[in-house]
Amino acid sequence: MKSVRPRPVVLAGPTAVGKGTVSGYIREHFPHVWLSISATTRPPRPGEEDGRHYYFVSNEEFDTMIERGDMLEWALVHGRNRYGTPRYAVEKALDDGFMPLLEIDLQGARQIRESMPEALFVFLAPPSWDELVRRLVGRGTENEEERTRRLATAEVEMAAADEFDVVIVNDDVRRAAEELVSLMKSQRT
Ligand code: 5GP
Repeated sequence: MKSVRPRPVVLAGPTAVGKGTVSGYIREHFPHVWLSISATTRPPRPGEEDGRHYYFVSNEEFDTMIERGDMLEWALVHGRNRYGTPRYAVEKALDDGFMPLLEIDLQGARQIRESMPEALFVFLAPPSWDELVRRLVGRGTENEEERTRRLATAEVEMAAADEFDVVIVNDDVRRAAEELVSLMKSQRT
């Protein structure tokens, strides 16, 4: 019997569209989905656990991971903190027959397109631009300067939707998460 290596699934989309919320919903409700845990130099937010939500590392540790070739992709996000996907965990998941889900930014998605063109690229879109702005302001975790910076990034990111294989509209977190999980299931058959 021929065993087919699964395709990684990349979930990207503009800032504040709710990628983290959708992947968080999947983490809680679909524990069988193999979710990649990124490394980041940003400090943890309240409730975030090292090794569950992210690996929280220092700048020096992040540099070492890059130098050793441990990053499948990495990016400086919003001009501030670095985020990256640890390579070996994803490779092992694929070897073990799991379909890894990578929730990353657009720069990272483009790197994966180069290194793993067989991946399935999913763009999470807001119902509208106004709704995206509302979510960004409503989240209240960023100051004015940071919001302006993130909105500028989001505008560029929205224009990239047509680089993706599939667009899922995040009109409702549960619905969007279920659509993504069904899509992943359909890729396995
Ligand atoms: P947050 O700080 O809100 O958790 O994430 C900020 C941004 O970093 C989000 O757009 C998220 O998708 C992105 N991100 C998280 N992990 C990674 C990663 O491993 N690689 C890349 N390129 N982006 C990531």
